[in-house]
Amino acid sequence: MTSPYQATNTPADPRHSSRLGFFQRFYLVEVLQGLKLTGIRFFANMWRHTLRTVFRVKSAHGAVTIQYPDERRPYAARLRSLHRLVRREDGSPRCVACMMCETVCPAHCIYIVATEHPNPEIEKVPERFDIDLGKCVFCGYCVEACPEDAIRMDTGILEFSSYSRGGMIYTKETLLALEPAGRNGAPTSPVPMPADRSMPRNRSMPS
Ligand code: SF4
Ligand code: SF4
Repeated sequence: MTSPYQATNTPADPRHSSRLGFFQRFYLVEVLQGLKLTGIRFFANMWRHTLRTVFRVKSAHGAVTIQYPDERRPYAARLRSLHRLVRREDGSPRCVACMMCETVCPAHCIYIVATEHPNPEIEKVPERFDIDLGKCVFCGYCVEACPEDAIRMDTGILEFSSYSRGGMIYTKETLLALEPAGRNGAPTSPVPMPADRSMPRNRSMPS
């Protein structure tokens, strides 16, 4: 049986928006319209770009709006960026090695080895706390699950990369050294540099 909507809301309907109009059926007309639009945008942006770079008119923004990485767009406060481990006042990790984050992680990329904390009032501390960022899907579940607010994803650091899978494993020491991003979302810590990043580009990459 034909749906009551079929006659007016399907591509089969001659009035449906997906149907080509008379001029749209002429390929050349559409091409010329596209070229016209591209030309207008090109010259308008070139003019603005010339005003900004040659005549120093700061308010004029051309097609090149952000000169990354020299200029950066402010990041949203809720952006999930590289993890960090929160420190106590004495510099030790706030983490109590409860394994909640390791358990909840859907990518199984957190590896924790717990040990006794020297302070008898704190039961455990991670002897080892690694995150394999090559597997991480940045879901933020680890942050949500943590009962101690010991892990956060607020460093603002997004430019981490490595020539090897091993280089994507960030250790407890690296994660503890990171600071939260500034008010504009820009990182305040340098991007952690894996050892393999300094490898000459003409050498073969390890797997
Ligand atoms: S962000 Fe998600 S995938 Fe990444 S470590 Fe946390 S829980 Fe695992
Ligand atoms: S959930 Fe928090 S306290 Fe528990 S192991 Fe993970 S970071 Fe540490």
